[in-house]
Amino acid sequence: MRKPAFRQVFSLLIAMAVILNLTTIVAADEGMWPLSEIPKLNLQEKGLRIDPSLIYDPAKRSLLYAVVQIGATGSFISEEGLIITNHHVAFGSVQAVSTPERDYLKNGFLAKSRAEEIPAPGRTARITESFQDVSAEVLSVAKKNMSYVDRTRAIEKKIKKIVAEAEKANPGKRAEVAEMFPGKTYWLFLYTVLRDIRLVYVPPLAIGNFGGEEDNWMWPRHTGDFALMRAYVGPDGSPAEYNEKNVPFKPKTYLKINPLGTEKGDFVFLLGYPGRTYRHLPASYIAYEQNIRMPAVADWYEWQIKLMEEMSQTSREVALKHDSRIKGLANTMKNYRGKLAGLKRLNYLEQKRQEERALQEFIQADPKRQAAYDQVLARLDKIYDDMGSEFPRIFILDNLRRSVTPLQIALTVVEASIERQKPDLERNAAYMDRNFNRLKQRIGLTLSSSFYLPTDMAIFKELMKRSLALDENQRIKELNRLVMPDKNLDDWLVEFFNSTKMADPEFVKSLWDKKPDEIKKIEDPMIKLALALYPEYKKIEETNRARKGQLDELQAKLVDVRQEFLGQQFIPDANGTLRLTYGRVEGYEPRDAVYYKPFTTVQGIVEKTTGQEPFNTPAALLQLINQRKFGRYVNPSLDQVSVCLLYSTDTTGGNSGSPIINARGELVGVNFDRAWEATINDFTWNHRFSRSIGVDIRYVLWILKEFAGANNILEEIGIK
Ligand code: ASP
Repeated sequence: MRKPAFRQVFSLLIAMAVILNLTTIVAADEGMWPLSEIPKLNLQEKGLRIDPSLIYDPAKRSLLYAVVQIGATGSFISEEGLIITNHHVAFGSVQAVSTPERDYLKNGFLAKSRAEEIPAPGRTARITESFQDVSAEVLSVAKKNMSYVDRTRAIEKKIKKIVAEAEKANPGKRAEVAEMFPGKTYWLFLYTVLRDIRLVYVPPLAIGNFGGEEDNWMWPRHTGDFALMRAYVGPDGSPAEYNEKNVPFKPKTYLKINPLGTEKGDFVFLLGYPGRTYRHLPASYIAYEQNIRMPAVADWYEWQIKLMEEMSQTSREVALKHDSRIKGLANTMKNYRGKLAGLKRLNYLEQKRQEERALQEFIQADPKRQAAYDQVLARLDKIYDDMGSEFPRIFILDNLRRSVTPLQIALTVVEASIERQKPDLERNAAYMDRNFNRLKQRIGLTLSSSFYLPTDMAIFKELMKRSLALDENQRIKELNRLVMPDKNLDDWLVEFFNSTKMADPEFVKSLWDKKPDEIKKIEDPMIKLALALYPEYKKIEETNRARKGQLDELQAKLVDVRQEFLGQQFIPDANGTLRLTYGRVEGYEPRDAVYYKPFTTVQGIVEKTTGQEPFNTPAALLQLINQRKFGRYVNPSLDQVSVCLLYSTDTTGGNSGSPIINARGELVGVNFDRAWEATINDFTWNHRFSRSIGVDIRYVLWILKEFAGANNILEEIGIK
């Protein structure tokens, strides 16, 4: 008798501790709030000085319509469709239009007139127009007694139907159903998609990427991470592909710039498109990430970066092919290392496990709860354990498809031939009519801007070696079977890669409409390999569907019971849909006795400059700093131009380019990163260490005025 009573008190204590902990977090402004929550946030109490309906009200020209998804995030800053985002968001487009002779990536670019603006191939900008809860409709097709695979399939199909109907009812708009709480809530979003986007201003790499990977995810920061683009539409005002006759898009609203910037302590908020967070997932998921997936991916990316850096030594032309790839890999690698360090520092896995032990006791303390939730955690554990054991093999297959371009193309061609035979709604999403052109375009762009055969060949070789190192029954036989025992592996590879036509854009184009039988007849070794591997990928897809069916059920229950246990209403994890987050301009203490101030200044640029990449400041900029040609852009409390700032918002990948907006709804900076300690935001947010990093609008304006001489732009945005 005594033991259970003791246990109950103990679990109550833990529950209270957890609740208290959570309460402090909530008071400290955690949250990537979906649109529906904005009216409930009492933002005026937090410091907002405008009516919250000016931020979001479907009936008004609210600020929301000034924000676009453009890879990550951007916002309109003029009535002529001018968009401000990050240099690193525009990076891929700048690379794609750069050549060794016209190296915009290195030297920057300014269009002095509209006619000089450069089309950014494949780039789109999406505006969220409306959303609607369609949960009941989506879930109506999930019947009891369905297998998990069937359940997932039924939901997938229903979603496609809802999307098709919405697009039919709203010609010209793009519809998407987003899963808000997996297995529980689904929202239908309508978007306007602008498809003619052009580059207007890009600072030189030594400003836009100052500090490079060394400073990435770090404070103090001095990166001028901003770029300007413009959205165009057809002469009739509707979205259109690039055409000379197109005209600048007129947004419903745009952000006014406050050239005075912001100060320490000020209330700020961000609107943006955060990608993914994982705050409602169980400890077993964290264990999978911490012990298996993230370390393996970080090591693998490090290996690839080294390879690509070596290849890049060949020439500037070859380097240009790798710049964007390296940047992406390095960004994720360092982010994962930061997260791993953060998980360890907080002992987060153990915290989660402790919470779950208390949660399990809470479940067992009540027969009704027990009936509903008893096995939820145990079953989730099993799924993530299984994923852990399958990981090494899946990882190789995944990366073969992701990182070896000719194989990626061959697999896509094979899959297209099969999927395109099916009725539209039954195809995998990428092969539906509404998506297929984009897929083809993306592949064409990869081939023209970032494919370099020797690199992909080396990656392929490494993955083959890794496959051979797996336990015999795990090896990817279709891959290793290819190599002739009597041939030197390197000779074989050269022959193999030289005899495929999967990197020939014209040949690839000729394959998109082929039927499966025709594909089988093609004499191309990469197609043959893709045909042999394809069933493996299909198997994975089916396993993932079954798993998703289970996860939907279990995660939905976990959210329900945790909300009951903690006495809290959660908001959905980030999922690439529009969110608001708010906080204050403030520094933080990363470790004992260290305080990080919330602003850096141009003086810090001088201090960091070595003349070597990534600290090779342009001489003209150094001169401006040394001569103190600051004009009106000086930050009065620092007597310098401030470069970057810190603030306590809740952000993640995808929030890059989000406008930093002050209490009056004016633009005071552009978000581009998080501090090292905040890389862990994807799992947990904490006011003590979660700081986002942005570029100060005063630095942006100062660069435009004094460094770039972009008076045409300043005039357009109303800055004299
Ligand atoms: N640098 C990130 C991005 O690219 C922003 C972040 O993760 O905080 O979206």
